[in-house]
Amino acid sequence: MASSILEALDSIAQTITPVDQEIIPIEHSVGRVVTEDYIATFDLPRFNNSAMDGYAVKVADANKEVTCSEVIYAGDNPTMTLQEGSAIKIMTGAPIPQGCEAIVPIEDVTVQNDTVHLPSDIKKNNFIRMAGEDIKKGSVFLSKGTVINAYHIASLASQGMTHVTVHRIIKVAIFGTGDELRPHFEKIEAHQLYNSNSPMFLTRSKDLGCDVRFIRTSADTLEALEASIQSTLDADIIITSGGVSVGDKDFTKEAFTNLGMQVLIDKIDIKPGRPTIVGTIDRTVIINLPGNPLASMVNYELFIRAIIRKMSGRRDHYHGTISTVMNNDFSVRGGKYAVVLGKFDGTAFEPIKPQMPGMVSPMQEADGLILITPDVTMLNSGTQVNMIPIKWEFCSEVKVELFSDC
Ligand code: AMP
Ligand code: MG
Repeated sequence: MASSILEALDSIAQTITPVDQEIIPIEHSVGRVVTEDYIATFDLPRFNNSAMDGYAVKVADANKEVTCSEVIYAGDNPTMTLQEGSAIKIMTGAPIPQGCEAIVPIEDVTVQNDTVHLPSDIKKNNFIRMAGEDIKKGSVFLSKGTVINAYHIASLASQGMTHVTVHRIIKVAIFGTGDELRPHFEKIEAHQLYNSNSPMFLTRSKDLGCDVRFIRTSADTLEALEASIQSTLDADIIITSGGVSVGDKDFTKEAFTNLGMQVLIDKIDIKPGRPTIVGTIDRTVIINLPGNPLASMVNYELFIRAIIRKMSGRRDHYHGTISTVMNNDFSVRGGKYAVVLGKFDGTAFEPIKPQMPGMVSPMQEADGLILITPDVTMLNSGTQVNMIPIKWEFCSEVKVELFSDC
């Protein structure tokens, strides 16, 4: 029986497990997912220091003339103690001396030879950066399941970490099925068709951080399909398109089943893309998408993206949505759980017209998609919708409402 969209996503969230791990230099870790919590081994800042170029002072000396004969630079290790009636010049980042109660910025004083006139308003701890106010020793500064970006690397480097443990890169294998298909780099006859799905999934999977292998299109026979499958079983994910409907030569599912596929999701209540199948052979996850390009793309974005996120160990593996509004009226056939591709300009969602399952051109315009329930036949301009972005990743650590409640 067909699964609903939400059942299919639940089953992905519950069944797919992360790939194993490796240790890599932090400089190479952008986009990778950390496998454990990282705990700070020391405070950041490591010591109380000055947030400004200025003067280390006592609060009691506010609005007084004090003497100043010493300077502390960043990188110094000062041993003196600040006494009432005096100030010590100090640079940004330099450790504050013993007895210092506040820093007064250079801009706020008047200086004459060795005498400094301090302002009347000096608050305790002003412009002092306290040890541990940024990262506290013993606290988690990078949590398990986070996708590393340049700013996480700043935290790792600030803790003196040279390497980080991450999930390894997911290996994806892709092939298309269909006697009518030719690779895009070969000569084509009038009755034939270029395989546009496989290069599309190859590049999209690379986009999403996978290591991808594309093998030649399989002919529509059980023997050819089984040979293609055999040569890809070392992958973490196999993505196929075509041969999953009820045509006489639709052997994809049979071929995978012959090689031991356990079916997890057998068809999904979605338009377009109902024949989609998800299964496993040992630890390899298999997704058979329909051949129609736009139908396969929609199902890739909804289900394979979720599989990749979960497999990569991400905490935020659920789809996130952006709440926006329809920018014009759009009528739909109704009666099905359906997907509408559209453009998003930052303020409103504009459905792409036309968008048919067999088309290629609408896909390149799509910034996101919305999901609608069978009762919807009209999306009026101004109606609030939940868009699942395609052109960028917007994810969630918890399940959020995916359908647009029109
Ligand atoms: P199928 O799912 O095999 O019945 O294919 C449905 C439609 O999608 C047919 O018109 C196919 O020619 C087309 N199609 C199948 N695979 C691809 C592909 N890899 N690239 C482009 N079109 C395809
Ligand atoms: Mg076919």
